[in-house]
Amino acid sequence: MISKLAARARDSATLVAVDEAHAWHPYTSTIDRDPVYPVASAHGCLIELADGRSLIDGMSSWWCAIHGYNHPVLNRAAEDQLRRMSHVMFGGLTHEPAVGLVERLVTLTPEPLQHVFLCDSGSVSVEVAIKMAVQYWHARGRPEKHRLLTIRSGYHGDTFAAMSVCDPVTGMHHLFSGLLPQQLFAPAPACGFDEPCLDRDIVELSNLLAAHQRELAAVILEPIVQGAGGMRFYSPQYLKRVRRLCDRHQVLLITDEIATGFGRTGRLFACEHAGIAPDIMTVGKALTGGYLTLAATLASAEVADRISSGDPGVFMHGPTFMGNPLACAIANASIDLLLASDWRANIRRIERMLRDGLEPCGELSGVVDVRVLGAIGVVEMERPVRMRVIQRRFIDQGVWVRPFGKLVYLMPPYIITDEQLGALCRAMLEVLSAS
Ligand SMILES: *Cc1c(COP(=O)(O)O)cnc(C)c1O
Repeated sequence: MISKLAARARDSATLVAVDEAHAWHPYTSTIDRDPVYPVASAHGCLIELADGRSLIDGMSSWWCAIHGYNHPVLNRAAEDQLRRMSHVMFGGLTHEPAVGLVERLVTLTPEPLQHVFLCDSGSVSVEVAIKMAVQYWHARGRPEKHRLLTIRSGYHGDTFAAMSVCDPVTGMHHLFSGLLPQQLFAPAPACGFDEPCLDRDIVELSNLLAAHQRELAAVILEPIVQGAGGMRFYSPQYLKRVRRLCDRHQVLLITDEIATGFGRTGRLFACEHAGIAPDIMTVGKALTGGYLTLAATLASAEVADRISSGDPGVFMHGPTFMGNPLACAIANASIDLLLASDWRANIRRIERMLRDGLEPCGELSGVVDVRVLGAIGVVEMERPVRMRVIQRRFIDQGVWVRPFGKLVYLMPPYIITDEQLGALCRAMLEVLSAS
C-alpha cells in the first residue's frame, strides 16, 4: 500500500484532497481550511507550482532560503555528506561538520561567545538559552533568579518557555494561562531604527529591571528587528542601553538572532548595529540556507563555565539529533557561500530597491506604515488582510508573498535579481491597491 502510494505521481487535486483530510499546516484549522498550493519544485528565486505556474519568492521560506532554492553548492555539500553519514549520535562522538560549524559560529559572533550548543530548531534553541540562564544563576547560588524580562511584540517560538516570552496578546497567553511561566513585559521600544533612544523609551524596562533584579535570570529580546510579533525595527541605542542596564542589575542578556542572523538586517548579526555582545545568543532559520532544520545557542565562557562548575556540573540538555552531520555540513557550506559573496553590498542593493519599490504603497488607503531595513520590507495595514483573497491575488501576480494579520512584507532570497525584486514590489503595489 505504502509503496504503491509513494510510486504514484498524484495529480494536484488528489494531493490537495489528502492534504486537506490529514495534514495540519502552521496555525490552521482542520475544519475551516485556507487553500494550500502544491509545489512541484523550487530553484533559485522561483517556486514552481504543480499546475505549471512559477512564483517569484518574496519570503525566503520564513527568513531561511537566503541563497535561493536548489543551490548547486548546498546540494553538493548535502550529497557529499550523505555519502559519509547522514547522522550519528553526538553523545561521546564528534565529527568534522559539527566542529567546523561551532568554529565558524564562534569566529563570526561577538568575542565573549565561546561555547555552542547545537539544537534542532529555533524554538529549542530558545528553550536551551532560557535553561542556560536559569542554570547559570543556580550555579551561582541564586536559584531565585529564574524569571525572564522581555519586550512586547516579540516572537521567540512555539514551545512553552519560548511562548512565555512571546507577545502576550499575539502569543495568545490567555489560552495557556496557568501553564506558562509568568514573565515580565516592558513595552515594545517606541524609538525607530534611525531615532535616538530617549529616557522615556526605556524607563519602564529600566524600572522593571530595578524592581525585579532579585528574581530575574535574563532579559531576552530580538535585537533591532522584532519579527513574527510585529515586524518592528528599533533603535540600536535602545539595545545598547539594555546591555548596560543588564550589567548594572546583574541580569544576563539573551539576544534571539534566529530571524536577524546571517546578514538579513545589513549586518551579519543584528547586535552589531549596537556594537554589543550578549551573554547568550540563539541562531537558526538561515543557518542551513533553508535546507534543513538546525539552530544553535551560543554562550559566553563565563556562562558556560559557571554552569559547568556548579551543581550538577553539567548542562542538562541533549537532543537526539544534536549536531546532525547532514544539517551541519550544509550550514557550513551556506555560511561559506554567504561570506564568499559581497553580501553587504548585496543587502544594500536589496534595501535600496525595497525602499524605492515599496514607497508608493505608503500613498494607498488602508496603509499605515511602510518600513525597510536591510533585506526586509514591511507594509503595515490599518486592518488585518483577508488572507484567502490576498493570497490568490499575489499568486495571480506571479509572486509568493504570505502576509500575516496587518503585515504584508517581503524578505526575498539574497540572490534575487533586480528584475525579480522589481516584480515583487510592483505586485505588492498592485495587490494592495486592489484591497
Ligand atoms: C522563527 C523564530 C523562532 C522559532 O524558530 P523555529 O525554528 O520556528 O522553532 C524563534 N525566534 C525568532 C526570532 C524567530 O524568528
